Amino acid sequence: MIPRKEMKKSESPIDIKEGVYERFPVTRQAFVTVSFQDAGEIGYNHWMNKMMENMVRRMMSGEEGRRQEDNALDLGANALNLLIGEYGFPNFQFLKWSPLFVPDMLANHPVNMPSNELSNMVKKAAVLYGADLVGIASLDPKWVYSKDLFKSFEIVDEGSPQETEDAFLIPRKVNKAIVMAVAMDDEMIETSPLVDASTATSLGYSRMGITAVSLAEYIRGLGYQAIPCMNDTALSIPLAVEAGLGQLGRLGLLITPEFGPNVRLMKVLTDMPLENDHAIDFGIPEFCDNCHLCAEHCPSSAISFGEQSYDGICDNNNSGIKKWYISAEKCLRLWQTNGASCANCIAVCPFTRGFESMQCFECKKCETKTGCELQVNTHLRAKYGYLDVDTWGNKPKVLKPRRRGL
Ligand code: SF4
Ligand code: SF4
Repeated sequence: MIPRKEMKKSESPIDIKEGVYERFPVTRQAFVTVSFQDAGEIGYNHWMNKMMENMVRRMMSGEEGRRQEDNALDLGANALNLLIGEYGFPNFQFLKWSPLFVPDMLANHPVNMPSNELSNMVKKAAVLYGADLVGIASLDPKWVYSKDLFKSFEIVDEGSPQETEDAFLIPRKVNKAIVMAVAMDDEMIETSPLVDASTATSLGYSRMGITAVSLAEYIRGLGYQAIPCMNDTALSIPLAVEAGLGQLGRLGLLITPEFGPNVRLMKVLTDMPLENDHAIDFGIPEFCDNCHLCAEHCPSSAISFGEQSYDGICDNNNSGIKKWYISAEKCLRLWQTNGASCANCIAVCPFTRGFESMQCFECKKCETKTGCELQVNTHLRAKYGYLDVDTWGNKPKVLKPRRRGL
């Protein structure tokens, strides 16, 4: 990971219109709204039925990249995701909010160490358990979902993280988020919208689960409380921005300096006294202003060609944050007809493909001839082994990630 102390600090990484932004309920996510349209009941996965029908139909008609062996590889890659936490449900399966195997003697005995040492230890452990990127931010309650499918999330003054009959309770002292990213296989992602790209995503989810659960158990073993999260409980992208992992791009995903948007995010919430990292600026909004590749290659027209705004474009959006809003429902409907998830936007983004500043589109900053954060980032990526300087040009070679598979 490129040390964030070598990157420009962003003083206001998220532009919020006060009085408009509200905590977001999971029930307004496209997975839930499309599931309800299709099946008439509240759930997270009913939308998949149509995708599976088309997966089988396209497989039976012998389409290249959609054979039984392609789908089998995807299903195998997804097995640990389903076993651990099914993309993320709070306090569910291995994502329990209390110790899984850690004995009380350790869980009730917090180690007493300075914050900087604890932070370094936690980051080392996160990498050991599979994280490619890790950062720490304060847990701002506004990023905690207001409601899961049936129960609300409530921030309470005392106690331990727990689920009651009608709510998930997060004590106020659980005020840190350790945010992590796992890089997906860029060669498989490039095959999008074929099944191999979906396999890369499934592997990403399985790795998310393994890493989040392992880190939560480690923190409990050090005597602190830990809530392991995949997509559940809190919004991953703003937490990742605040933890210095990257910036939000036009495609509606986090763009990291190392892997572009080709990552999956997870987090562990904890009461461990940790040191925050700082948000970074490496020029993403300015670059996205001039680049529309993701919007041009989106088969469902879900990505905006326009400018950033505070106003959501559909009920699946949470208005009040300046960004490019995505039509998540259009995206999900495309996945259904495709018979597999899509990652075209990730595949074509220059930051996935090994962006370096020689490829930069003309922008106002270049007219100053003083360089920009994108150039700085190119050199940092080369310095820390993420780009091969000998292959700079139209398609530079990405050296990392080196991990292929689980
Ligand atoms: S995943 Fe595919 S359909 Fe969805 S926004 Fe990206 S390119 Fe468009
Ligand atoms: S493809 Fe271009 S516009 Fe889209 S997120 Fe990547 S850099 Fe931004």
